[in-house]
Amino acid sequence: MHASLMMNGLAAGQVLQSRPARQVTRPSLAEAEIAVRTLIRWAGDNPDREGLIDTPGRICRAYKQWFAGYDEDPAEFLQRTFEEAAGYDELVVLLNIRFVSHCEHHMAPINGRAHIGYLPRDRVVGISKIARVVDAFSKRFQIQERMTAEIANTLEAGLQPLGVAVVVEGAHGCMTSRGIHQSQATMVTSRMLGLFRDQPQTRHEFLSAIGLARASECGNLFP
Ligand SMILES: [Zn+2]
Repeated sequence: MHASLMMNGLAAGQVLQSRPARQVTRPSLAEAEIAVRTLIRWAGDNPDREGLIDTPGRICRAYKQWFAGYDEDPAEFLQRTFEEAAGYDELVVLLNIRFVSHCEHHMAPINGRAHIGYLPRDRVVGISKIARVVDAFSKRFQIQERMTAEIANTLEAGLQPLGVAVVVEGAHGCMTSRGIHQSQATMVTSRMLGLFRDQPQTRHEFLSAIGLARASECGNLFP
């Protein structure tokens, strides 16, 4: 089991700003590779030895994948919705959306998963689009609290549902591999909007779905 579980509920209505990702001037690839060489020397190794000579290039290519979210606008994924849902007005829940993000304080990986629920008002969206929203926000430098709020706010604006619920679980590399070395600690953040915030029964139904998924697993959250 986990050494500690931190619940961090975010107040509804709390405004958290997205980063002005597109206003940044990127350095050249050569400049970025020089920066990686500097960090290798800072760690105490020789960037010119055989095993490390291609590492700066690899790191820069990896950054293109890890931080692909800066080139995406998650709101765009929700533009195509379906109104012909045969009057479906029950919860839609998507569990266990895996993500890898990076903490903006240490640039260390955050391995986690998101659970999302919404209560449609008059339209639904393809479920893969919800996973893409999580993916785009996670592939940026993040703090988990803000990422949780950004996902919820984007779903609320895009789907205009009766409610949105987001729970994010994350294992933070900056805490598991350094500092306090809590290798089993998982951080849990949540944001409940609309009926999920106002109706305990609706919130409970969503949290039960997460609990059921948990109960069917054995052992660690991140096997
Ligand atoms: Zn950190």
